[in-house]
Amino acid sequence: MPFSHHSHSGQFCAHAKDSLESCILQAISKNLRVFCLTEHMPRADLRDFYPEEVELGLTPQDLKDRFAEFYDTAVALRDKYKEEITLLIGFEVDYIRPSMLAEIKELQETYHFDIFVGSVHHVDEIPIDFSEEMFLRAISAIEAVDTGAEIAEAYNNGAKIERFPEVQITESKGEERLFEVYFDTQYAMLKALKPPVIGHFDLIRLKCKDYKVDFRTLGNVWEKIVRNVKFISEYGGMVEINSAATRKGWEYPYPGPDVLQLMKEEGIKFVLSDDSHGIAQVAFGYEKSLDYLEKQGVEEVWYYEWIGWERGINDGILRPEDRYLPKIRPECVGPKSARVKDLRGIVPA
Ligand SMILES: [Zn+2]
Ligand SMILES: [Zn+2]
Repeated sequence: MPFSHHSHSGQFCAHAKDSLESCILQAISKNLRVFCLTEHMPRADLRDFYPEEVELGLTPQDLKDRFAEFYDTAVALRDKYKEEITLLIGFEVDYIRPSMLAEIKELQETYHFDIFVGSVHHVDEIPIDFSEEMFLRAISAIEAVDTGAEIAEAYNNGAKIERFPEVQITESKGEERLFEVYFDTQYAMLKALKPPVIGHFDLIRLKCKDYKVDFRTLGNVWEKIVRNVKFISEYGGMVEINSAATRKGWEYPYPGPDVLQLMKEEGIKFVLSDDSHGIAQVAFGYEKSLDYLEKQGVEEVWYYEWIGWERGINDGILRPEDRYLPKIRPECVGPKSARVKDLRGIVPA
């Protein structure tokens, strides 16, 4: 299975391992044909720093500098390895509060990107995939913001939580309410950015009581999911089959079967991602992802490739070979498809 549309390395991400180049070499040795380098965007506000970043004493300027270094390194490496692998350059979105849109736009103006991954890691500003403790904290933050109570839970590191106007108030409580606000937040992100790749669509299940919860049984939540999926389908976004879930104990990748079936019905195109955070995770769990897709009746996956370039699925050879690399721009990459059954056996287990 020769593509990953989402990756990180320890050189530029505090919670990952290994250099960017060693991750790329691993992708080549695993027969990946397309590997997208999508480091987290730099966060400009200290209140959004993760504990490990605080411990390291990092500042917003450090994250900005590190991203600049990531970009330059990625540009050099895509040239160095162009014969072996298509390296697409992008970033992973963190749209934590409405006012962050300006930062995202600025990043997109400062650099050129081929693609980017539209993800939601925060609900009412609180990280939802970091720890159980933070997950529960997110539930209490939502409750506080819903009721408008002037209590500590309505604040994030001293500043009042800024909620997306897309978040609708309902009577739901607890996890169900968290799911609702997550999908409203995702809708805000989708509308504002129309990401070419949607990251781990149902990440909100990761720390919940039962990741196999069937969203179709939760009326409000399901309505929001249907709305989001239809929106993605309309603008032509592609949803990743993200194998990171299987290294976190799930039987299948993101998204779960209830959501996957809906997406299939709505004609959504799927791309493959490992969301790797180091060489040990490059193409990790891909056999499981293929099994899952086949079991769910998905016969085709999509990937982004340089327009006008052809890289053999089986041999990985780039044709034509005597060209200059295209510019790093969304106009220079386009979607191509491959049969799931043709990907069997290409990536070593
Ligand atoms: Zn992510
Ligand atoms: Zn990621």
